[in-house]
Amino acid sequence: MLDDYKDQQPIVYKMLINAIKKNRNSHAYLFETHGNSKALEIVLSFVKYVLCPKNYSNREFCKNCNQCKTIDDNNYIELKIIKPDGLWIKKEELTELQKEFSKKAITGNKKIYIITEADKLNQASANSILKFLEEPEENIIAILMVENKYQLLDTILSRCQILSLLNTEKNNSNNYYDKINNIINNEQIDAEITNKIIEFINFYEKNGIDTLLHLQKLWHQYFQDKKIIADAFEIMLLYYMDVLNISCGYSINIFDSNSKELELIKNNNTINQLIYKINTILKLKENIKFNINSNLLMDKLILEFEEGKND
Ligand SMILES: [Zn+2]
Repeated sequence: MLDDYKDQQPIVYKMLINAIKKNRNSHAYLFETHGNSKALEIVLSFVKYVLCPKNYSNREFCKNCNQCKTIDDNNYIELKIIKPDGLWIKKEELTELQKEFSKKAITGNKKIYIITEADKLNQASANSILKFLEEPEENIIAILMVENKYQLLDTILSRCQILSLLNTEKNNSNNYYDKINNIINNEQIDAEITNKIIEFINFYEKNGIDTLLHLQKLWHQYFQDKKIIADAFEIMLLYYMDVLNISCGYSINIFDSNSKELELIKNNNTINQLIYKINTILKLKENIKFNINSNLLMDKLILEFEEGKND
């Protein structure tokens, strides 16, 4: 069930639940898997949430009804999973599927197709998908899965709601929030340090690229030790997660006393931009282990944040 991924995939979980509850189902989703081996399971838990009548009416999580079971067994007629046949996903397969789906247009029933390795769409099949994305049919939802979104054409990307899965297997943390809460409760990270991090983020959100000129004053004089830098990145992550929380209509998880500043950052960023920032922090945090020069690290952070503005 979707609820099982609440802790491991807090961002995707919130985006999906939010869309479902507000009845803002998109016609096309793109799941960026980042090599997460459970990606298909996560996608299927979402599919069950959308298709299972119990979920939809009660807005609760169905435990195991017949409908959900047929989905698990891949016997559900209105769900098709498309995998490459040989090297490519063939256009014929998509045409056939689209014909089949439009034939059985029983009103009200949602139909879903999942393309598991969307980077294996050849030109003809990509065009066929694009046509569907441009003129979506009522009640049909397309779900594309790809390791990295940049493997797909911009024209496809721009028409999908993009959901980036975290690869929780890489840093073997079971519960992300637990880990972060431990850091927050760590005595070494006192309130003053946390404030410096928040000041840095707020400064960046106001001044953008110019922040590069103020890093000494804002960051380097406080953060030199590798361990402290790693913790600072975790706090930065949490801060942006709280911005994402309010952007998705949820309450603030940790930084209650900074609600005004969070609100400003929220207005400054689309949800996709926030997710981009969160992913950037996660990615660069990995580099801290390898003794990356801290000047370089922060320059990179800001330059990558800037790049995300065009996302
Ligand atoms: Zn069910």
